[in-house]
Amino acid sequence: MCGVIGIYDNEEVIGKIYTAMLTIQHRGQDSSGILTFDKRYHVKKGNGLVRDIFDQYNIDRLKGNIGIGHTRYPTVGEGSVEDAQPFWIGHPFGIAGAHNGNVTNFQELKEELLEKSHKMINSNCDVEVILNIFAEYIERYQEKEFTPETVFKAVKYVYRRVKGSYSVVIHIAGKGMVGFRDPFGLRPLLFGINKDRLVPAYGFASESVSLDVTGFTEIMDVEPGSAIFIDHSRKVFQKKITTKAFRPCIFEYIYFARPDSYLNKINVYNSRVELGRRLAKKIKRQNLEIDVVVPVPDSARAAAIEIARVLKLKYREGLVKNRYIGRTFIMPGDSIRKQSIRYKLNPIKDVFRGKNVLLIDDSIVRGNTSQSIIQMVRNAGAKKVYFGSYSAPLTNPCVYGIDMQTKGEFIALDSTPEQIAAKITADSVIYQDLNEMEQGVRQQNKNIRSFCKACFTGIYPTGDVSNEILAQIERERYSQRKDNGNHTPNM
Ligand code: AMP
Repeated sequence: MCGVIGIYDNEEVIGKIYTAMLTIQHRGQDSSGILTFDKRYHVKKGNGLVRDIFDQYNIDRLKGNIGIGHTRYPTVGEGSVEDAQPFWIGHPFGIAGAHNGNVTNFQELKEELLEKSHKMINSNCDVEVILNIFAEYIERYQEKEFTPETVFKAVKYVYRRVKGSYSVVIHIAGKGMVGFRDPFGLRPLLFGINKDRLVPAYGFASESVSLDVTGFTEIMDVEPGSAIFIDHSRKVFQKKITTKAFRPCIFEYIYFARPDSYLNKINVYNSRVELGRRLAKKIKRQNLEIDVVVPVPDSARAAAIEIARVLKLKYREGLVKNRYIGRTFIMPGDSIRKQSIRYKLNPIKDVFRGKNVLLIDDSIVRGNTSQSIIQMVRNAGAKKVYFGSYSAPLTNPCVYGIDMQTKGEFIALDSTPEQIAAKITADSVIYQDLNEMEQGVRQQNKNIRSFCKACFTGIYPTGDVSNEILAQIERERYSQRKDNGNHTPNM
């Protein structure tokens, strides 16, 4: 998962881009990049957090009223700095862009671009392919006059060729800025207007929070299969280009997005509360003897508070998270890496001593985190430890942008909740039911008929995910891990 920002302002934009980037840092901590435009592109990118990459020298150098920012969480590529976004190309105009998602036919397109169009893709970053395909349309088919329709046709051309998930922001030098979402709307993208000025400012962002804090007052979703183009005289053009079944990613609400964000007219915090309410009903039916409900910070807090309220139980913050731990995989040695959870979380012993505890987390993937936490809580003196996941069992890799393990690693792949409880040493494991999970998130926007739940069901809504693509993604994940020794850069 990544985060993308694009702002078309009428004053120096770097301050807003930098601030907006900090609000999407949770979407990717592997690399950060900013590109601005005055008469040329100014770019700075590097591996690391936003605060580590941009010093005063770079901030001063990133001139212009137009900017694109990106925080990366690698899903394709080795995570090298060459793959950091934004990217730019110089032909037929200066064209720069960044995206959030994962192009599933990336290798095929890369080869096609080289063989048929003699375009060399220098990175393992899929936005470079998107930019080249977008530019190829404009170059080959451009009508005499460049109009918004030229942009929309180029987006349509991207839709025809590029498979997978992608929410993209592209700047076309001297022409304007366009934001578009893939036909299924798998990844979020929002558009904001700030009309508090004589000349309005416009922005695109992966999450509404970024537009909120940078002063955009009118905020809306870019619709799936649609594009919004702001031309260089600041006129806004909007077009629905293709219609497919809308399938936004459900995992955004469960784990990824910030609770204060609204995506597809659904507030993330409220959906976690609702997921908690629904899980509480299931827990109630199990007649467990519970003394205290404790969340695994931070994502599970909203659900855990609601569970405690519904079950009329005590809620306590029993696990304290060290916010400053940073990326544990830069520490040498495998044993240190394995200890990462222990370094990240510490129990408040008084909360656990002699108690039957219900721990709540957003999900269980491999089960390593939950197992370590349960051990930690037992060592702190807990009598019984029940573990509740407010999402359903995860069983399938995500091909649309979330680093979600290889198939064989999902603890729930061929185990029952009882077997999982035994593996992670819990007294009991309670999962949310799949249907309850979907209805819980859908409650705030019933116009969404269904979500992408591929990581829970193995059904990939784009309908074109072959076993070959799955095998290739698994190969990439294995080799990535060999390279950097860690596959969860979001830790
Ligand atoms: P584990 O079961 O040890 O693989 O880790 C599960 C925990 O990792 C959950 O509690 C989530 O909070 C977190 N998590 C879930 N999905 C991801 C992901 N794609 N990347 C990083 N962390 C994740």
